[in-house]
This record gives sequence, structure tokens and C-alpha cells, in this order.
Amino acid sequence: MTSDNLKIVESNIQAACMRSGRKRDEVTLIAVSKTQPLDLINEVYSNGIRNFGENKVIELVNKADILPKDIKWHLIGHLQRNKVKNIIKRVELIHSVDSYRLAEQINTESEKADCNTDILIQVNVSGENTKFGISPDETEALARKIAELKRIHIKGLMTIAPFTLEPEENRIYFRKLKQLSVDIQGKNIDNIDMRELSMGMTGDYEIAIEEGATFVRVGTGIFGERSYE
Ligand SMILES: *Cc1c(COP(=O)(O)O)cnc(C)c1O
Repeated sequence: MTSDNLKIVESNIQAACMRSGRKRDEVTLIAVSKTQPLDLINEVYSNGIRNFGENKVIELVNKADILPKDIKWHLIGHLQRNKVKNIIKRVELIHSVDSYRLAEQINTESEKADCNTDILIQVNVSGENTKFGISPDETEALARKIAELKRIHIKGLMTIAPFTLEPEENRIYFRKLKQLSVDIQGKNIDNIDMRELSMGMTGDYEIAIEEGATFVRVGTGIFGERSYE
């Protein structure tokens, strides 16, 4: 079941890359495993997937302790400052940095652990007030400030588009995020690299790829519906 879903997602990704003249290896599929049991995660792993996403620190850490060590874990959900120390050195990339205070905490804990941490800045492109993320207007200023923190490397931007049954409706938001990243990259600011764009979920990842996503975060499309117990 899960393996079949994964095959479908993979062929959709390939088709979206073809349509938009992109190479398949420009896009990394993150299997969003929040709430999912270990046996399903292992099944996805055994199909060759190595990037997994979680939105809660405790769940990420618990799973990382048990599952194979070559998994790259992505924190994609809101991060509280008091939880930062738990994930430093254990995550490949933090997708959800949207304030300087949070970045400072990541910097401090990275220094203590003697490592560097890669992050994306989460941008609220749609203006939905239920979502985390900084506004597009404030993104460059925040990036410039964070770029001065020595233990943090900014790798790009992330957004969560609104839930919709009509994925085409989200194309404008993906396009906006891409444009914002191009604008910021064009300023050649030290310690700011805008090559990564984390956008697109089960409902809209193909559109996101057409608009330049380098990471797509797919949960339900691979694992089926989540059960929150
Ligand atoms: C849960 C989650 C996803 C995956 O959502 P699906 O619709 O199940 O693919 C992607 N990104 C974030 C930030 C999430 O919290």
C-alpha cells in the first residue's frame, strides 16, 4: 500500500520535472512521517527514501533514536526556543525559522555543540493568519540579521500554502516564494544562499515542482491518512 503510493508520488515528481524542464535530482522528496508508525517508515526507507520530515521535536528525536542512522531528518513544524537544544546535531535542515530570537537560540546551541546548523526561513506568502512564517516584505531584513550568526547557514526559503482542493490556486504562492528567493539571491549577501525552496505538500507538490521547489514535503500521499490518537 505505502510502497504503491510511493511509486505513484515518484512518477508524479518525474512527470512534473519533465513538464518544467527540470532534472529529477534537483528535487528531494521528504516523506513526512509525523504520527506514522515505525513499520510504515521502515517500509518507505526500504524503498530507498532517506529524507524524512517531522513537525514535533520529541517525535523526531524518538524516531531518530530508533531508526537507521543514515536517515536525514527535517524539522518542518513550528520550533519552540526551549526545544532547540534537543535537535541540534540531529537534523539535516530546520525548515521553520521565522524569527531572529529563534535563530539566536539555534546559534547559541550550535555553538555549545560545536556544529553549524542549516536552516530555511519560513515565509507566509499567502497572508493566511493561521500560519507561522514571516511576511515576504520582512524576509530580506530577517535573513540579513540571521546571516550574521556564525553557526547558522541560511539555505533558502520554505512556505506552507493554504489548504485547497484546487492545487492550481496555490501556484501564485509558489511563484511568489521563488521570486522572493531570486530577489534575495541577487543581492549576494554573505552567508545567505537561496538555492533551496521547500514548498508543496500532498495536494500541490506537482505545481510546486513546476514553480521551482527543491524540497517537496509529502505525508498523506505516501502514508495515507494520519490518525491522531
Ligand atoms: C504535515 C505536513 C506536511 C505533509 O502534509 P500532507 O498534506 O500530508 O502531505 C507538509 N509540510 C508540513 C509543514 C506539515 O506539517
